[in-house]
Amino acid sequence: MGLTIQKYGGTSVANTERINEVAKRIVERKRAGEQVVAVVSAMGDTTDKLIGLSKEITESPPEREYDMLISTGEQISVALLAMAINELGEDVVSLTGSQVGIITDDLHTKAKILEIDASRLEKELAADKIVVVAGFQGVTINNDITTLGRGGSDTTAVALAAKLEADLCEIYTDVNGIYTADPRVVENPTKLSEISYDEMLEMASLGAQVLQPRSVEFAKQYGIKLAVRSSFNRKSGTYVKEVEKLEEEMVVSGVACSDEEVKISLIGVPDRPGIAYHIFNALAESCINVDMIIQNVHRGEINDITFTIDKEDLSQAKVILAKVREELSIEDIVYDQEVAKVSIVGAGMVTNPGVAADMFAALAEADINIQMISTSEIKVSCLIDKQEAEKAVRAIHSQFNLGSEARKSDANV
Ligand code: ADP
Ligand code: ASP
Ligand code: MG
Repeated sequence: MGLTIQKYGGTSVANTERINEVAKRIVERKRAGEQVVAVVSAMGDTTDKLIGLSKEITESPPEREYDMLISTGEQISVALLAMAINELGEDVVSLTGSQVGIITDDLHTKAKILEIDASRLEKELAADKIVVVAGFQGVTINNDITTLGRGGSDTTAVALAAKLEADLCEIYTDVNGIYTADPRVVENPTKLSEISYDEMLEMASLGAQVLQPRSVEFAKQYGIKLAVRSSFNRKSGTYVKEVEKLEEEMVVSGVACSDEEVKISLIGVPDRPGIAYHIFNALAESCINVDMIIQNVHRGEINDITFTIDKEDLSQAKVILAKVREELSIEDIVYDQEVAKVSIVGAGMVTNPGVAADMFAALAEADINIQMISTSEIKVSCLIDKQEAEKAVRAIHSQFNLGSEARKSDANV
């Protein structure tokens, strides 16, 4: 008997009508002779609402309690989906992250999966049941509930696919697949029929919300093909897999944008060996990832250092940097949240000089100022004013001729 691992995102289970639709899809697959494990997100914007509730109480909740709260959304959706499947006459059981044996480290709100004890899951499958799993959550060895970071249900699904040795994981969402840019921002993006793990990993890490980066990493590591599809229709979607050459041999395969970063400028930093180490080591010790960095040399013995971090790390970074400021006698620290990072991604960039220049040209023509730049072999990123983000994505998308008039009607948004 074949095994199907499916994941349904928040919009796909946003209300009971949608839950009934998803139940039908799952049951159809079961009746076609497959075992089915369905990983489910919280209904609609439940997770955001739960976060809002916590903010009404405090800006800095204890992280254990925060995870206790935001993991509850998934428990609602799995129970309702299991009821809907039961109504259709199939044997089903819903399981939380803890019940399904997802053991994580204790880094609350962005925990990493350490191992999966799949014995319960295997027992239920052996009893011929459909298994519905709460995404996004796990448990530490001390039995504390953890969450896997926003979008973490994707990672739950791929991790279970790896554990159960499935070679395909179906990710059902609210768009028809992976596009050359967010179809909610660009009018005529092209849907890709396939994309390589590496490109998808860059796209996801640079803000293309459609897959959590960690899920793509897992998929690559375990050789699991991902099929990203709409749960609202039967279109074929996009495969994320090992790709030798992209079908259309595009130099740039997509444009991504994120406003999840904050720009931090340290003004008047002493210029001597060991200073950068002091600052960035202090952040690294608290697992705060630093992305773009620039250093302006001026005024003799004094520099300015500017860098970006994830917005979610801001309150922790403020505490650390206040201490660093005292230790190093830094003159001032400026925090700017009104920024966005717009990026192009493409494996073809390595062999095509001038790609970055074309991106800068698009921004110049759109009269958008670039604050910071970073590049790698397969991406170029520019930090710009947040207000200009959508305009920038559209300008760059059009600069690289990524649009597809023919496929305009394909955008299911
Ligand atoms: P789900 O709730 O199913 O996990 P998400 O909201 O996390 O869905 O991700 C799907 C969204 O990702 C889409 O609605 C779309 O707006 C956004 N998105 C951003 N970039 C892209 C892209 N390049 N291709 C497809 N979708 C994208
Ligand atoms: N519900 C969680 C979130 O909104 C996890 C997910 O949807 O994948 O981030
Ligand atoms: Mg998601």
